[in-house]
Amino acid sequence: MADAAAKAGADVEALKAVAVEKATSDAVVELEANLVVVGGGAAGLSAAITAACEGETNIVLLEKEGALGGNAIRSGGFIEDLDPTDAIAIETNDGYNAWLEELVAAGPQDELEEQVWDELVTAYEAWKASGSTRLFDCPALLAIEYYHVEGTPPIYNMGYPALVNEFDHWFEEEIGGK
Ligand SMILES: Cc1cc2nc3c(=O)[nH]c(=O)nc-3n(C[C@H](O)[C@H](O)[C@H](O)COP(=O)(O)OP(=O)(O)OC[C@H]3O[C@@H](n4cnc5c(N)ncnc54)[C@H](O)[C@@H]3O)c2cc1C
Repeated sequence: MADAAAKAGADVEALKAVAVEKATSDAVVELEANLVVVGGGAAGLSAAITAACEGETNIVLLEKEGALGGNAIRSGGFIEDLDPTDAIAIETNDGYNAWLEELVAAGPQDELEEQVWDELVTAYEAWKASGSTRLFDCPALLAIEYYHVEGTPPIYNMGYPALVNEFDHWFEEEIGGK
């Protein structure tokens, strides 16, 4: 951080000398809620918002920092949503469409890609038939992209439903969870 600030021309020592005092409070607030969510990061916010969307009106969200978002406001990356609503899905573009068309036309490159290929083609054809102008994505495409970058077999890649199903099965059968 100090290195980055110095490169940007900042006086690092002067910045270090600035005392940052965190506001604290001894106030005690009593609240009653049907649902208390501890932590306003991506997970807590999603939980609270989902509960509200499901009709719960008495929710308390506790966040110890001065801002909501947790690590998501520090991360400079993306959070994959394989089935976003039109309101948040971004527009596709010619470059992406051409890349996708080429990828699908080339066919599976090996037997590992074959495992998810039919799913990719089915989802891709459905997207094309829908005339959507939103970015195409699906678990099989994500799995293949990760396979190309990370080298891990597509079926075991992030976001692939089979892996989620496998985990659910293990959780229910081995742990007795629901
Ligand atoms: C630099 C960086 C880059 C990343 N890049 C990506 C990416 O490209 N794609 C991706 O998918 N993920 C990425 N991640 C990971 C992603 O940001 C995290 O997995 C995700 O934000 C975690 O969310 P969370 O809600 O589980 O936890 P957190 O974000 O840690 O949220 C927990 C919240 O709980 C609060 N809290 C903790 N204890 C208490 C308490 N006792 N009382 C009240 N509140 C409390 C914390 O202040 C925090 O706000 C990245 C993370 C970092 C740091």
